[in-house]
Amino acid sequence: MQRPKTESVYAKSCAVMPGGVNSPVRAFRGLGLTPLIVESGQGDLVYDVDGNKYIDYCGSWGALILGHAPPTVVQAACQQMAKGSSFGIATALEEQLASKMVALIHSLEKIRFVSSGTEATMTALRLARGYTGRAKIVKFTGHYHGHSDFLLIQAGSGVAHINPIATSKGVLPSTIADTMCFPFNDFSIRSFFRTHPHASDVAAVIVEPVAGNMGVVPPEKGFLEMLREETQAIGALFIMDEVITGFRVALQGMQGLLHLDPDLSCFGKVIGGGFPVAAFGGKTKILDCLAPLGQVYQAGTLSGNSVAMSAALATLKEIEVPGFYDRLAAKTERLLSPIRAQLEKKRGTGCLNAVGSMFSLFLKRSSVKAKEALDEEEFARFFRYLFERGIYLSPSPYEASFVSIAHTDEHLDYTAKTICEYLDRC
Ligand SMILES: *Cc1c(COP(=O)(O)O)cnc(C)c1O
Repeated sequence: MQRPKTESVYAKSCAVMPGGVNSPVRAFRGLGLTPLIVESGQGDLVYDVDGNKYIDYCGSWGALILGHAPPTVVQAACQQMAKGSSFGIATALEEQLASKMVALIHSLEKIRFVSSGTEATMTALRLARGYTGRAKIVKFTGHYHGHSDFLLIQAGSGVAHINPIATSKGVLPSTIADTMCFPFNDFSIRSFFRTHPHASDVAAVIVEPVAGNMGVVPPEKGFLEMLREETQAIGALFIMDEVITGFRVALQGMQGLLHLDPDLSCFGKVIGGGFPVAAFGGKTKILDCLAPLGQVYQAGTLSGNSVAMSAALATLKEIEVPGFYDRLAAKTERLLSPIRAQLEKKRGTGCLNAVGSMFSLFLKRSSVKAKEALDEEEFARFFRYLFERGIYLSPSPYEASFVSIAHTDEHLDYTAKTICEYLDRC
């Protein structure tokens, strides 16, 4: 695979942007490859600036459930653009999308649109603190909720929630002092809720209902239900960060599949149809604490942007067609079942975690149920093997990969065959 133009653009990018990119994982660090420089996407394919094509299982980190450039979304966005792209004034489009989401998702009574998942979680937590008058936030190790300062922590050594360590320089110890971190899927957090003196200072527990940023790790049976119950008992809010899972695992998200009723939820990725749309929402009594009604401040120049809202509405129209998620599941099964069979045949080569159309293959593991240090060199070999054969997975062992409705049977079969080939040589 020749990539001279890619090399040249990347070299020039590195001179003017840190690492040549605007988000770190795009830089392919540790993979031993020059990163992709994309020219265009169509359906399940992306084309690089050298004209090479790749079957795309990253899908803009899960945003593109319809694949690249779906005609109805392109048309909706273009039509809106001709009418003006941004007003900073309320539009009927926002009302339409808000009404649709509130009607679809049982826990939502009101919603506010923002432009990134980072903003959604950051503001949901500010709102939780404003509403409860409490300071502390509980999160889980390996769960990613965007890059606001107070969420960039790891659990320290020793007792899980004591001594949080910032995962980024520039984050002050005072900023993370009220963020506590616990291991995901570990029911012993219950004793913290029931006996720890800090439990009554907890404003909110935020969780990815399916972890998607440490590889895909589904919740253990009863774990999320336990969090719902325990937060209720201590008067803290339960926040489901469905930025990946929302409209991905089902039309009603993971909360719909599990019949959970969170106080607040966050959305992003899929809902934007490839545009910067995110949202947080929940109970009216909580949402009404936001300005202009209440005293919790939040604002955004491009919040509810009309082109993005049009793309979101067009996306929703496609995914709410009955049978959409069944078709997506069938496509995912077509890809994953031969791989699963191969893993069965050659035990020890890896395990596959998947929920709906999101999946991760953990090489050389028999099971992954919490945040684990993964073998990055092993992943790099695997990634390169696929990349050189025109298959683009999310470029890190800690990221989820995704099947979209645009993936063709031919491409799914080719991908399964190639992955099985790789595993066969392990
Ligand atoms: C991607 C992601 C975010 C952050 O969203 P951005 O739009 O990248 O800011 C938050 N939470 C989860 C679970 C995510 O996967």
